[in-house]
Amino acid sequence: MSTVILDRIPFEIDMALLSKNLHIKEGSDPAARVERLVESAKAVARPKAVYKVAYVESKDDDSVVVDGTKFTSRVLRVNLEDTYRVFPYVVTSGTEIEEWSQSITDIFDNYCADAIKEMIMRSARHHVFAEIDEKYGLAHAAVMNPGSLADWPIKEQKNLFALLGDTKESIGVQLTDSFLMLPIKTVSGMRFPKKGTYENCQLCPRKDCPGRKAPYDKDLYNEKYKMK
Ligand code: SF4
Repeated sequence: MSTVILDRIPFEIDMALLSKNLHIKEGSDPAARVERLVESAKAVARPKAVYKVAYVESKDDDSVVVDGTKFTSRVLRVNLEDTYRVFPYVVTSGTEIEEWSQSITDIFDNYCADAIKEMIMRSARHHVFAEIDEKYGLAHAAVMNPGSLADWPIKEQKNLFALLGDTKESIGVQLTDSFLMLPIKTVSGMRFPKKGTYENCQLCPRKDCPGRKAPYDKDLYNEKYKMK
């Protein structure tokens, strides 16, 4: 199947959450400044995404082949045990908001702009996942991202991007030689149907991570993913 390109994804900015993330009191002078930045950001932001339906063609002990491209990860392989479809994606806050933020020179405003871009990107991702789940009937779904676990190294970004065509052309996202994505507020991964819950964080021992979505489970790898 060809890729689906979304170039005007709706997004929401939760002012209460943004203030909390920025450690700013609602109603204060800095809060008024943030509100002005948000209005300005809303006027220019155009988050985008590309995704596709891809098919699992074969599975090995620690790898899967998806649409002719091999991905090496024991965790991914086990997580795809019961599915034949996956949804590789890239979601970005967009080049427009990136250019807007690069024009900001004030340190405080820059700090706020970064948080605003992050929120736009997360909101856009939420919309993209909702579209995938509804369109393809995914009652329960999980996500894995190259580079979030040692088991699935970041160099596999190259394979993921290979599934999605020319992302620079379609949504303005470039993959650098060190596998970083530009604009910086861009996320990539595979969404797939999965019963029960799975979060990369369950297998990640990193302490004090602000992005943690689930507690680290030190026994999970040995119980579910270790090769017998
Ligand atoms: S704990 Fe943090 S670094 Fe580890 S997988 Fe979760 S979000 Fe990523």
